[in-house]
Amino acid sequence: MEDEKKFEKLEPIRVKALDDILGVPFKVLDDGFVRVVDYLGSDESIVQAARVSYGKGTKQISQDRGLIRYLLRHRHTTPFEMCEIKLHIRIPMDAWRQWIRHRTANVNEYSTRYSLAIESAQTTNPDQWRMQSSDNKQGSSGFFDLEQGQKMSDDEKFLHEKAREIYDNRVAQGVAREQARKDLPLSTYTEAYWKIDLHNLLHFLELRMEKNAQLEIREYANVIGREIVKRWAPIAWEAFEEYALKSKEFSGFELELLSLLANSKGDEAKIKAGEFGWLKYKEEKLTFNMERWEFENKMKDLKIEIPW
Ligand SMILES: Cc1cc2nc3c(=O)[nH]c(=O)nc-3n(C[C@H](O)[C@H](O)[C@H](O)COP(=O)(O)OP(=O)(O)OC[C@H]3O[C@@H](n4cnc5c(N)ncnc54)[C@H](O)[C@@H]3O)c2cc1C
Repeated sequence: MEDEKKFEKLEPIRVKALDDILGVPFKVLDDGFVRVVDYLGSDESIVQAARVSYGKGTKQISQDRGLIRYLLRHRHTTPFEMCEIKLHIRIPMDAWRQWIRHRTANVNEYSTRYSLAIESAQTTNPDQWRMQSSDNKQGSSGFFDLEQGQKMSDDEKFLHEKAREIYDNRVAQGVAREQARKDLPLSTYTEAYWKIDLHNLLHFLELRMEKNAQLEIREYANVIGREIVKRWAPIAWEAFEEYALKSKEFSGFELELLSLLANSKGDEAKIKAGEFGWLKYKEEKLTFNMERWEFENKMKDLKIEIPW
């Protein structure tokens, strides 16, 4: 048949490095994990889709790498959607509450209406109690001393045990599981199957590996990125590190300032920042301005001195 000549036989795409860790749990936090249940595609699938070719579709590895980097850099996203991964995760409910905001995945979560709640709650070591950040309302900065931390960890243990005891008592008396669970702490672990394509997974990782994301979910994101995606699609991962994780975005105004600073025109940059409303003073102290603060942080990372 004419068609048989045109279409070569296809083999399923497998990635040995990922097959080697299929089902193996990567530990996260004190009792959480992430493991790969199944996957579809690889770097090769991204290239194949981009070239809309049937069969192997790849050229030399260097050309494939160039193409994947081009696609990622220019946000040509659909070829990355050809790869999918299914993860099994075990995670405290408060971190899960942030995770589940990512709407582009398929999810099945452990049901505490149907089954008894998992008998495990995330605990905090005495040296791990973080202080509220003064300049970032959503963040933390520094740790409590060990004595205070020990007291907080003792209180935490008491609370976990009491909450579980009350829950178990309710269940033993025949209270419906769906109601008995209502006072369990948010630190209680839950489990889920979570399936997502590579494009949306990279978006999740960009948001949740970022330093402003909460530490607990960041730990999961780091494991998924550095232990799983890196093995699964190493070229896409390398491009993502380069063009997303390690890159910085600048607004038009920020670029104007950056250009002045790079040309030793700090005084002009200061005047411009003032005109832009960034330098308002109260009792001779600079008042907080979110955009200025973000720009200052970028300059700090680049080791460029700020002229105000
Ligand atoms: C550091 C940080 C702090 C946060 N703080 C808060 C907070 O205080 N309060 C709070 O409520 N949330 C908060 N969030 C959650 C945040 O607002 C997003 O809901 C979450 O990060 C999911 O992002 P997303 O919508 O881009 O991702 P996904 O839901 O994974 O969606 C991926 C992309 O698909 C598209 N998309 C998906 N669904 C739709 C839709 N229905 N319509 C249009 N486009 C769609 C969008 O382009 C979206 O970016 C925070 C997130 C982070 C990372």
